[in-house]
Amino acid sequence: MKKLSKPEFARLREKTRLVLAGRDSSDSYGFVNPPIVRGSTVVYPTTEDFLVRKARYSYGTSGSPTIDALLAAAGTMEGGAGVLACSSGLLACTLPTLAFLRAGDHFLVTDSVYHPMRNFCDRMLPRYGVEVTYYDPLIGEGIAELFKPNTRAVWTESPGSQTLEVQDIPAIVAAAHARDIMVMMDNTWATPLHFDAHKFGIDVSVQAGTKYYAGHSDVLIGTVSARTPELYAQLKLSWDALGVIIAAEDAYLTLRGIRTMAVRLKEQMPAGIEMANWLAARPEVARVIHPALPADPGHAIWKRDFTGACSLFSIELQPVTMKAVAAMLDGLTLFGMGASWGGYESLVLPFDCKRYRTATTPGFQGPTIRLHIGLEDLEDLKADLDAGFARLRAAR
Ligand SMILES: *Cc1c(COP(=O)(O)O)cnc(C)c1O
Repeated sequence: MKKLSKPEFARLREKTRLVLAGRDSSDSYGFVNPPIVRGSTVVYPTTEDFLVRKARYSYGTSGSPTIDALLAAAGTMEGGAGVLACSSGLLACTLPTLAFLRAGDHFLVTDSVYHPMRNFCDRMLPRYGVEVTYYDPLIGEGIAELFKPNTRAVWTESPGSQTLEVQDIPAIVAAAHARDIMVMMDNTWATPLHFDAHKFGIDVSVQAGTKYYAGHSDVLIGTVSARTPELYAQLKLSWDALGVIIAAEDAYLTLRGIRTMAVRLKEQMPAGIEMANWLAARPEVARVIHPALPADPGHAIWKRDFTGACSLFSIELQPVTMKAVAAMLDGLTLFGMGASWGGYESLVLPFDCKRYRTATTPGFQGPTIRLHIGLEDLEDLKADLDAGFARLRAAR
């Protein structure tokens, strides 16, 4: 096999790059995959080498071949200046704020933000002198009216957690960049395969690699991608200063997941859409929230900006007691109930975003449920939900 040059590699299509990225069998004793390199100490051959840290890797906290292989694969999808990895998706959200915000700054955060990130913004950022304002995810160019002289960054997440509002990212980026304000985005739902965040001007793109990257519900990991070399350098500075590390096994498993991510999404995206349409036709369902459905309020922007969807969406039931919802969900045999998603298995959970929203009031009348469609046969999943709806009706 002949080695590709960098320009030759860059010319390949994304699917091919995902298979090749981060692999160099001449570095892996001839094996296809990179080795899992564990380690703290790196030894140097001479005093002189040690004094100037002349080595490809200087110490365990500064990286390893396994982690570099993961970053190469993530970077080929993100298309920015550089990617860093950390030990959870939540840390991938919080660390860019430590890297780019300072005391006295104002930070605008979408009201649809992943809830643990809201927790960080409420409990930690004020202690460091950062003022946080939540905004309506559908604000679009109206974001400009919320800018203050000290606004440093806007946090976006599109579609938003649980309620899946699709944000007008180009409008927000245009307004922010006109005032030298950064835009950060949690791009976990679409993954870089289905939303090209940096192409849309997103400065810092975050991915909970725990979801579709790892893809098997067995790893917690996060990645942060920077659009320009300058942004990457500043991000890297904080990374190094904070001592953020990930385990070699987790890097390896995530890289392994990335190899098949395009194939899993190719199966899970239509499965999610088919299930969403099936649910939309159910009398027990008041509304399906899935941007890929033409009836969804976010559909037009999704169609304009995204190249695909994942298999995570929500539904609003017709008004019914929580007892009836529990009767439906507790008896399901194929849908596990639990947080996280993006694995090969189907999941379901009830949620109530009215409890913590501050900038918007979601207009739900009935209980809301989030579903993640895995790789099971759809007919089996429908039968499981069908029996669940029968329990719901009986308990009403
Ligand atoms: C799950 C999730 C995270 C956090 O990922 P963890 O690895 O579970 O910490 C961040 N953002 C979104 C949108 C998520 O769904």
